[in-house]
Amino acid sequence: MPSKRDKRAEMTLTRRQTLGVVAAAAAAGCGTAPRSASEKSSAPGPSPAAVGRLARPPVALATWDHGLPANAAALARLGAGGTALDAVEAGCRAVEADCPDMTVGLGSRPDRDGFVTLDAAIMADDGRAGCVAFVQGVAHPISLARLVMEKTPHVLLVGRGAEEFARAEGIIVHPPRLTAEADRQWREWLRERRYEPVINIENHDTISMLALDAQGRMAAGSTTSGLAYKMHGRVGDSPIVGAGVFVDAPVGGAICTGLGETVLRTLGAHLAVEAMRAGATPQEACEHAIARIVAKNGDPSRYQVGMLALDYEGRVGAFAVQPGFTYALGAELARAPSAR
Ligand code: ASP
Repeated sequence: MPSKRDKRAEMTLTRRQTLGVVAAAAAAGCGTAPRSASEKSSAPGPSPAAVGRLARPPVALATWDHGLPANAAALARLGAGGTALDAVEAGCRAVEADCPDMTVGLGSRPDRDGFVTLDAAIMADDGRAGCVAFVQGVAHPISLARLVMEKTPHVLLVGRGAEEFARAEGIIVHPPRLTAEADRQWREWLRERRYEPVINIENHDTISMLALDAQGRMAAGSTTSGLAYKMHGRVGDSPIVGAGVFVDAPVGGAICTGLGETVLRTLGAHLAVEAMRAGATPQEACEHAIARIVAKNGDPSRYQVGMLALDYEGRVGAFAVQPGFTYALGAELARAPSAR
């Protein structure tokens, strides 16, 4: 049984591992990343000259199994000189474009009234942030969130206003539509209409990401359709700064996935970053935040929350309420330890 310290050491990315990951991602290209840890590329690291140019090894960290293609896209951007913001945007876009779980992007399962409503947030470590919530018909909410950050004086736009802003920026807003499979599953759900706002294996799986670039800038991002069959208008933690995402230089960043209401009540990501500010390692910070979430939300058998944290040394923390939370660090898939 590895000690807590061993576990932390295991999850700390060494410089060599990270450089290997960058090279593998660049070789694989966006969307062709290894699908599992066992399939990971054995591509050699960059040349010594290239290593010399890197101020620090870039890192990409993301929730769930689809963190692998997200990280591949993010690391490809970082390898091409992109910033941490570019990387999280690219990673989130990859999953928005192709999410077989039907939990991110326009192909998602709808709310209980049959509408796919999407939430996203992006945050830079200097405090800039952009978020959109309850938007429909936008293929890449993460990019719309970035435009909110870069082109408006606001942090959060929701619903019709966010869609009007998208149109003004030249983004196509598609009419409401379900994919054939989402429509089939929704009609099946309608037979019983059992409204259960609890997280289970079928009804969620946000992609949340943290990236650290070679210049030492960190960014966080998140994009999701939230809970399947949620109430129309429901917004979770993912597009809320401090809840689903938070990053602050020179401390680090944290991201969440799981039952958003539990994270909203506690501002989970902010809790973890503030714990790191007070001296906790990323792993200790995740454990601290999850303990608070459990303390505030009652019976932990009723919900799942997974949390990831990253500091500027590239140290990673991962912890969840329940077993089963997977995350990707570069091209490696791992299973987070849990409170239960
Ligand atoms: N946190 C998301 C929400 O509650 C769901 C998820 O992480 O899968 O909207």
